[in-house]
Amino acid sequence: MTTEFNLIKRFFTRPTPQADLGVGDDAALLRVQDGHQLVISTDMSVAGTHFFADAAPYFIGWKSLAVNVSDIAAMGATPKWATLALALPTVNEVWLAEFSRGFFDCANKFGVDLIGGDTTRGPLNISVTIMGEVPVNKALLRDGAKVGDEVWVSGQLGAAAFALAKLIDKNGAFDYIDEDELARLLPELHMPQPRAALGLALREVAHSAIDISDGLLADLGHILARSNVGAELVLGHIPYAQLKYGDTHPSDLQKMALTGGDDYELCFTAPASAHEQILQIGQQLGVPLSCIGRVVENAQLTLLDALGHVVTLNQLGLERDGIARYGFDHFSA
Ligand code: ADP
Ligand code: MG
Repeated sequence: MTTEFNLIKRFFTRPTPQADLGVGDDAALLRVQDGHQLVISTDMSVAGTHFFADAAPYFIGWKSLAVNVSDIAAMGATPKWATLALALPTVNEVWLAEFSRGFFDCANKFGVDLIGGDTTRGPLNISVTIMGEVPVNKALLRDGAKVGDEVWVSGQLGAAAFALAKLIDKNGAFDYIDEDELARLLPELHMPQPRAALGLALREVAHSAIDISDGLLADLGHILARSNVGAELVLGHIPYAQLKYGDTHPSDLQKMALTGGDDYELCFTAPASAHEQILQIGQQLGVPLSCIGRVVENAQLTLLDALGHVVTLNQLGLERDGIARYGFDHFSA
């Protein structure tokens, strides 16, 4: 018989070597290593907002945890435990098996134990709380950027946003993206690979860090606001996604890379003296790292062309009704 208890046992109970007590009791028991702080973050995934309700459940499972791992990475911390609060409209065992396979593939890849959660009936909604550890006072925060720091970003930006834009395109604006190219871009949207190892490696080097979930400009903007500084970015140094149509539609590519969400790359600032060290870290980890600009005193985010001339957001088509659109915001009109 399908009971709540059986579902939890079958789909969400796995060994939890990093916990003193995992799924099955009223609560889990964890032990943080001496000299460490517990790092906690929650990200909710809502059908229709963060994923299509009919998306492949494997990807929904993977991504619901991956976006949480990304937050822990951005703190320079080690992910260790997670809880999963799940509201399901119906019990579909095929769906659940695939969802849990995606979730645990991600959990295993990043060393996360699922230690508890809640399972209820309701509109499809997935809320994951992730916990990790970091040595006391070593976490990478948003407020540590210093004037003179270089601004870096990992990987390439814009592919996930392109995939999403194509999927929801109603007026043919992205007809130039063919099925093959969409198939190539979809994994970037559905299976983000959080930069866990990079976050750890940056702990002793970077002054500040954030993961890019809502777009480079929006997320870097959070670092700048919290640190009371500004930044100058060189547009030509941004690591744009490699697209078949990047050359024919450069302004779309630029928009996606600057303000598209779902990249789950890390953006960080570090002293210029650490430049070579950071390049080495990237080589060791096999993660491309691009220096895209520097931190400046005035509290503004400025974009520069190859000649050092200021390029306005309006020129880039990133303004609507005179208001700058830096990235995704759930509540802006
Ligand atoms: P309670 O009624 O005490 O809240 P539950 O019946 O909700 O207990 O949960 C029983 C056990 O199963 C608890 O240890 C809880 O953490 C775990 N659990 C429930 N749902 C999930 C889930 N989706 N994933 C992982 N663990 C879960
Ligand atoms: Mg419960």
